[in-house]
Amino acid sequence: MSRVPKSITKGRLDWLLRMPPQLEQAFERDFGKSRVLHLRQVIIVGLIVYNIYNLTSLHLMADIQPFTVAMRLLVLTPGALLIFYLVPRVPAFWREFMLLPGMLLGTLLPLYLLYSSNSPYAAYTVGELPLVLLFGNMLLVMRFRYALVMTTITCLVALWVIYNKPGFDPNLLFPMTVQIITGLFFTLYGNWHMERHRCRHYLAQYDAQTRADRAERIGDEMRDLSFIDTLTGIPNRRQIDEQLSGGIGRDGAGLLMMVDIDHFKVYNDRLGHLAGDDCLRRVASALQHFAVAHGGFAGRYGGEEFILLFPLDSAIRAEFLANGLVRAVENLKIPHPGQPTGALCVTVSVGYALTATGESAETLIARADQALYAAKRLGRNQAMAA
Ligand code: GH3
Ligand code: MG
Ligand code: MG
Repeated sequence: MSRVPKSITKGRLDWLLRMPPQLEQAFERDFGKSRVLHLRQVIIVGLIVYNIYNLTSLHLMADIQPFTVAMRLLVLTPGALLIFYLVPRVPAFWREFMLLPGMLLGTLLPLYLLYSSNSPYAAYTVGELPLVLLFGNMLLVMRFRYALVMTTITCLVALWVIYNKPGFDPNLLFPMTVQIITGLFFTLYGNWHMERHRCRHYLAQYDAQTRADRAERIGDEMRDLSFIDTLTGIPNRRQIDEQLSGGIGRDGAGLLMMVDIDHFKVYNDRLGHLAGDDCLRRVASALQHFAVAHGGFAGRYGGEEFILLFPLDSAIRAEFLANGLVRAVENLKIPHPGQPTGALCVTVSVGYALTATGESAETLIARADQALYAAKRLGRNQAMAA
């Protein structure tokens, strides 16, 4: 696996190997299920192995053997099965936390048995302790903070037991102290390594995913922007072409309207380009509302010209819509100081055409354009069919 740079963890992983809550939640979303499966599998394996110690106590703690069996079968085994049952059913925090009391039961019980037994061989059961810790720290892979608590408590209790157990062979004290401390803390060290590896790799993966998501979002935004007219905020020529290439309505049948603002050059000349821009925005917005309200599409074709598309094939309906559009713009009542026609406000002329079978988008536009110029010639502020 690739190396994770140190900077990845900066400020996001404390010495107890805890990630910020939002990252812990993300980790749980990504890996919670596999963690549950892992824990349940390992708990069953651990339970079987742990009960094998019932056989070793037959030799090492013969004086209290029935008691040791009873404790393992009636206390520890049901406890482990309870955890096995709860693991997939409780929130992640409790799932990880309850391993701590579970494991403490598993380490403190044998220490209690050792303390209670008068058998001369009881001291040998200390050798089983690092194996139990190996299980908790490196097979269950308890979260490091809990592993630290569990290992420390177990270590202290184990040392207390051997130093306070009446009749414990004094020659064993030093070697067993060393064995306990090294054995237990080796497993804790292993746990720290595995946990750190888990967190650091998750952080790296999380960052890579976040970067990929951001890049995708920016890509989408750029794509959207490239289809939007920057001045008016409605679809641009590119999007109109795309709509036309896909066919207007079902079976490609549809209505195309070419809309042109009347005497817009005069409007610009009198009121200035900024006012002209504002007027374009207002007209564009009105056209788009009109199109959407009638199930159609509107885009800026260029300059003060717009194209509207509607999925319909009825000439009567087309005429109704085209005239409605002319009125809708007139009703905006945008004052136009220099209309040679005498109109007092901004108006549009419309040329419209219904698609003919087998016709290309270019000829459809050309027919609508001719109709538009007919409307202009006839006095503007009106719609003409092709
Ligand atoms: P007609 O009624 O025959 O269409 O006359 P017109 O003046 O509207 O037509 P003409 O083609 O002579 O002038 C179009 C004007 O539209 C000229 C140009 O300055 C203006 N125009 C085109 N694009 C923009 C724009 O983005 N902003 C502004 N403010 N004006 C624009
Ligand atoms: Mg024009
Ligand atoms: Mg014009």
